Amino acid sequence: MPEASSLDFTDDADFADAQRGFVTTLDPCVIRDEKGAVVWDLSDVGFLDGDCPATVDPALWRHAKLTRIHGLFEVADGIYQVRGLDVSNMTIIEGEHGILIVDPLMSRETAAAGLALYRAHRGDRPVRAVFYSHSHVDHFGGVRGVVTPAEVAGGAVAVVAPAGFMEHAVSENVVAGPGRGRRASYMFGSLLESGPTGHVTNAIGHRMSTGAIGLIPPTLLITETGQREVFDGVEVVFQLTPDTEAPSEMNFHLPAARVLLVAENAAHAMHNVLTPRGAQVRDAGAWAGYLTETVRLYAADSDVLIGSHHWPTWGTGALTAFLNLQRDAYAYTHDQSVRMMNAGLTGIELAEEFELPASLARVWHLQGFYGNYNNNAKAVYQRYMGWFDGNPARLWQHPPTAAGVRYVAALGGADAVLHLARAAFDTADYRWAATLLDHLIFSGEEHSAARELQAATFEQLGYRTDNGPWRGFFLSGARELREGPLTSPLRSHPDLIAALTPAQIFQAMAVRVNGPRAAGAHLVIGWVYTDPAEVWTLVLANGVLVAHEGEAPEYGAARVTITMPRSVHNEVLAQTTTMPDQVRAGAVTIDGDPIALLEFNSYLDDPNRTFAIVTP
Ligand SMILES: [Zn+2]
Repeated sequence: MPEASSLDFTDDADFADAQRGFVTTLDPCVIRDEKGAVVWDLSDVGFLDGDCPATVDPALWRHAKLTRIHGLFEVADGIYQVRGLDVSNMTIIEGEHGILIVDPLMSRETAAAGLALYRAHRGDRPVRAVFYSHSHVDHFGGVRGVVTPAEVAGGAVAVVAPAGFMEHAVSENVVAGPGRGRRASYMFGSLLESGPTGHVTNAIGHRMSTGAIGLIPPTLLITETGQREVFDGVEVVFQLTPDTEAPSEMNFHLPAARVLLVAENAAHAMHNVLTPRGAQVRDAGAWAGYLTETVRLYAADSDVLIGSHHWPTWGTGALTAFLNLQRDAYAYTHDQSVRMMNAGLTGIELAEEFELPASLARVWHLQGFYGNYNNNAKAVYQRYMGWFDGNPARLWQHPPTAAGVRYVAALGGADAVLHLARAAFDTADYRWAATLLDHLIFSGEEHSAARELQAATFEQLGYRTDNGPWRGFFLSGARELREGPLTSPLRSHPDLIAALTPAQIFQAMAVRVNGPRAAGAHLVIGWVYTDPAEVWTLVLANGVLVAHEGEAPEYGAARVTITMPRSVHNEVLAQTTTMPDQVRAGAVTIDGDPIALLEFNSYLDDPNRTFAIVTP
């Protein structure tokens, strides 16, 4: 990561840009849900007024001061942004009779508060279109705060999204959702209090809001770059950018207003090529290619560049330079990682060697506040090579507990390892201290001094990183070592469940099958939804659940058939009711042997939402 000394802390241009066009804001900046629970709170960030403490990286501290700026801002004639009322931005474009909204924030409550702030200033203009720039929840989750499903169904409001949006918007929550959710709580520091020794910024925004998440399916999909559409008299030209920051994403150009909206493809921080909460690795090379296309298609015809996070860039020259530099950072990350990979360096080695050229390293918007360059270089290696680095000594290593037992024995026992770790800590070799203590903790020794020293080590690593997610991981790990796993409340989102296809529902069931327990089972189950009518056959054999659309007599007769409205199953999946309750209420019909259903259920594991991370 760049040395802070190469950065110009006297350059206040970002602060001027982040404040430019300020209209009004909420004071205090606190948003509550209908029950009075706080879902957004910037009232506790006054500590950021001060000078940078020793517990925060100076560049990240500066960035935190920028990401907490909040309010309604006019970015061009008739174009406004709500920023700092959620982790993401909501853009409002005035049309002939109403408004178009790009990215209605993450929660219904924050989106409604943002729209109310706009309307208090500009009048009660109706919403005519809502755009989702991409398939991440902080860009669609608040849609019910700005429109109702009835308004969309009645045709009064268009909902516009890039091709592939629905599949990707819900699939993140299906197969790997629980595991990623647990890791996301580390990455975003959601279990940490705000303060100089805790949470300071998520880097793409101050924090995630915690209100109600919804989804209204799109009524119009953008399927190609150059597609032009007119909404309420406003012409919008789209650039599709699949497999960049999200699998389904698009940029927008407003030719009349000369405004370019680049979604999350460019921001005032480097982005993640592989988000550490866990996701499929992104394509840094393709990302760079799309940014080149953005410049060639739209930059010369734009006066303002806005995004779905952070503040605008004004001026054709400045926004062109901004996009070219962003492109170069992704291209450099990709090309240099591959060059070193092809020279024989492994992921961990090339990431250590990776260094931006000085011309990029001193640029504020290329700092690794969100996407850490070390992590991104490893991600490029992973995309091409996977986890194995080619050395057979590392092909079949012991897992952490078995390795920990052996390392501790080899090093002369737990107290000897602790002694070595303390020496590493005292000489500020925190990375080595963390490795030694990791072996000791995973060896299974109940060694409270080791846990405390590891917590102190994580703190020092967290205090020194310029990366928001790394700080979140280190400080969350420290807290859990001291206090044990912390739970975040289980939240279900009915709109996302309703948006699942039957195939996605059965895929989510298949990854809950406990293979060893179900290995000897053979079950055929008929699964029938009414409204809309869907007939499926589930076959469990060899520990594998396969869902067949329609009847599948070739696998034998169904032992039991379950019939219910899809809406009832949605409620069961949202855990607002249970299957037995719905059977008793007559909403679910069971034909055949009900014991087969009980048996089937006994093979399904519930995900563990507080699984251990920093301990065995
Ligand atoms: Zn986002």
